[in-house]
Amino acid sequence: MSVSVAQQKMFVDGEFVDALSGETMEVLNPATGEVIAEVPRAGEEDVDRAVAAAEKAWETWREKTPKDRMELLLGLADVIDENAEELARLESRNVGKPWWVAVDEPGVMSDNLRFFAGAARNLEGKSAAEYVEGYTSMIRREPLGIVAGIAPWNYPLFMVIWKMGPALAAGNVQIVKPAEQTPLTVLRFVELAQEILPKGVLQVVTGDGVPAGDRLVRHPSVRLVSLTGDTATGKLIAKNAADTVKRVHLELGGKAPMVVLDDADPATVAEAIKVGGYFNSGQDCTASSRILVSERIYDDVLSASVTAVEGMSVGDPATDDEIGMGPVISAEQQERVLGFLERAQDAKATVVTGGGAVGDRGFFVAPTIVTDVAQDAEIVQNEVFGPVVTMQPFASDEEAVAMANGVRYGLASSVFSENVGRAMKVAARLDFGTVWVNEHLFPLTPEMPHGGFKESGYGKDMSLYSMEEYTRIKHVCVKLS
Ligand code: NAD
Repeated sequence: MSVSVAQQKMFVDGEFVDALSGETMEVLNPATGEVIAEVPRAGEEDVDRAVAAAEKAWETWREKTPKDRMELLLGLADVIDENAEELARLESRNVGKPWWVAVDEPGVMSDNLRFFAGAARNLEGKSAAEYVEGYTSMIRREPLGIVAGIAPWNYPLFMVIWKMGPALAAGNVQIVKPAEQTPLTVLRFVELAQEILPKGVLQVVTGDGVPAGDRLVRHPSVRLVSLTGDTATGKLIAKNAADTVKRVHLELGGKAPMVVLDDADPATVAEAIKVGGYFNSGQDCTASSRILVSERIYDDVLSASVTAVEGMSVGDPATDDEIGMGPVISAEQQERVLGFLERAQDAKATVVTGGGAVGDRGFFVAPTIVTDVAQDAEIVQNEVFGPVVTMQPFASDEEAVAMANGVRYGLASSVFSENVGRAMKVAARLDFGTVWVNEHLFPLTPEMPHGGFKESGYGKDMSLYSMEEYTRIKHVCVKLS
């Protein structure tokens, strides 16, 4: 099936428009390096225009009932399901996702929107009562008004959907800015949904972090910015949002440990590493990028993992639906990943498998395993965001927990053991927003929260907890006579 990339305007005030400056930016296919689209490069004036439209839309959207909001979200979920293959093909082309990764995303996204369609009708507050004689007090849980969602390039439409569900369910109007590298599926989605989207309730501006994202962060009428992105970007946004005392929701980087206790099965662990470490070319904030293995089974786990990883096919997903792993997102990202590997080797680390670029076009990096790394090594402490895992041995469960927690990130982690009680003890001590036991990366389900501790950010995506981010609490006190 051919993929449409005809949509090259952004969606403001219910219309597809160019940037007021007329400027555009190129979008590449990372598997070939070819330009596949041009989209508007929004400036501050375009963001201001979208905010003005959002202010207008808010006046009518705020009067809608939870049922109305539910119906919109159910309609948007149907749009995804009805166009699942096209959206998956487009995402595969723009991000370099293998087909087996891309094809799963639409069903997960529509399920997420349906969860929030239900959540729209289940917002709760404390009961109304006479806490002071002669007065009734009640709590209103209200939307914030205009909220912004700023998305990363690794899960372009997926991350927008995570932000859109709770934002619209709670009754807000939203302006979304996709990452500059990957705006195509978000634009195509709003194009497909335009008939059912009330004007100005959901808008998409395409452009760079600065000025487009930055203007959303600084605009006084925007009351929340939700970012999924790098920790450095999150810190900057939190600082800049402080000028307008704006609420900030941050889903940032990760450096997830997979803790493998001495009673785990090496073959099972190797299969989990193959998925957890290399899914989406390792460009996943929850990727199992640090494998911590009991020294008793270290050699077995390493050799099983090398076999599993070397069995993965790497290539352009457009040429073969069976490809196991695609490219990284850009030439810049490829250089960044290779730079980490070079510096690690300079510091006496061993590249057991992989370690270099693959092919003569596109931005591919071979699936890589690195050993002989110290806990304070750059490659252990910092997010590589590519198909690279490190493997470190540990002597005791206590040491494993200390090593796992010994980074500035706190997004996700896992523990592998045949002994549930032992695994639970370790899980309780892990300083991460998610702990999987005998799994890594999956499952994700909209009922459960996703979010980090420490420098991985604050606030939750998914689950009813995310509704907290997108609502505010008002006390209304009524004098009874
Ligand atoms: P990035 O921080 O470079 O960009 C993210 C978004 O922020 C982009 O849309 C960008 O244009 C925008 N931006 C950049 N500077 C800005 C500024 N000053 N003001 C406003 N907006 C600005 O991140 P990326 O490289 O696109 O994505 C990769 C990062 O995202 C990784 O660190 C990864 O761990 C993280 N991530 C986290 C999660 C999570 O759930 N915690 C999920 C996916 C990705």
